Amino acid sequence: KGVVHRICSGQVILDLSSAVKELVENSLDAGATSIEIALKEYGEEWFQVIDNGCGISPANFKVVALKHHTSKLADFPDLESLTTFGFRGEALSSLCALGNLTIETRTKNEPVATHLTFDHSGLLIAEKKTARQIGTTVTVKKLFSNLPVRSKEFHRNIRKEYGKLISLLNAYALTAKGVRLVCSNTSRKNLKSVVIKTQGSGSLKDSIIQVFGMNMFNCLEPMSICISDDCKIEGFLSRSGQGSGRSMGDRQYFFVNGRPVDMPKVSKLVNEIYKGANSKQYPVAIMNFIIPTRACDVNVTPDKRKVFFSDESMILQSLREGLQQIYSSSNA
Ligand code: ADP
Ligand code: MG
Repeated sequence: KGVVHRICSGQVILDLSSAVKELVENSLDAGATSIEIALKEYGEEWFQVIDNGCGISPANFKVVALKHHTSKLADFPDLESLTTFGFRGEALSSLCALGNLTIETRTKNEPVATHLTFDHSGLLIAEKKTARQIGTTVTVKKLFSNLPVRSKEFHRNIRKEYGKLISLLNAYALTAKGVRLVCSNTSRKNLKSVVIKTQGSGSLKDSIIQVFGMNMFNCLEPMSICISDDCKIEGFLSRSGQGSGRSMGDRQYFFVNGRPVDMPKVSKLVNEIYKGANSKQYPVAIMNFIIPTRACDVNVTPDKRKVFFSDESMILQSLREGLQQIYSSSNA
């Protein structure tokens, strides 16, 4: 049974960024307005997500990390109207299976916090009082240490995994309105460096300036494409001819109703229209697809990065026409 659980867990948590993503989404679901991500050695030794959300109540200490425990689904009449990130109750249990998980948490009803230690099957094995503000800190040490092949890959590719994580956290920093987000890494020499730091502003414009700086913002122009009565695409694009000079993964961010998602087809389309024939530069693109929840499904894959639209070809066609119009008018 242990082996099956480890293999299944490896499908929910694919790499460093999907591990941290689950924790950040739990913090957002908990109503946090401040989320700090701390890494030791790029996440190779441990990573930690610290929030000021609602905390976990003592009644749930024993069950939080058990497979399929979730406090979220009951609040929703059906999956279609789901607005929280989590609902499968698999993240904490998978992280237990793949690494060493501890939690420090306190709700507004508790005078002190509790430090919880879990074993690989998600069982609570130790509990002690500790000092902490209201909120939750989840720490994962030695991710993948009991999946030998994955572990070897993880250590070999740690810089790449770290890069992917930072770009994912940039996406949350861009989209999480009113949430302060900080990410820091501490190196072996105990030097701590802050990699991302936002104040939790209200607008996408402010977030872009905080995440990428004013110079980058000045190279962008706002875009808005209307697809139908209740569907539109809003965001910012490179002014034509001004690429980022970086690889595109660095500077293209797509969201569906504010959720970061992968959209390879959209990315390809943007590049096709915006990338000059002999240019090595990719356009910057930060786009939010505002689509009724009944017309899309972002929960189809375990890591919830892929999205399916019920009318994809119509959306892509409108996007193509809209982009061509923006491109030719800003070139005129
Ligand atoms: P899911 O998010 O799908 O419910 P998880 O395994 O990610 O499943 O989390 C299990 C449960 O633990 C959540 O439903 C929630 O009740 C609780 N929880 C996890 N992280 C936090 C957090 N940062 N703050 C408050 N509660 C949390
Ligand atoms: Mg979750």
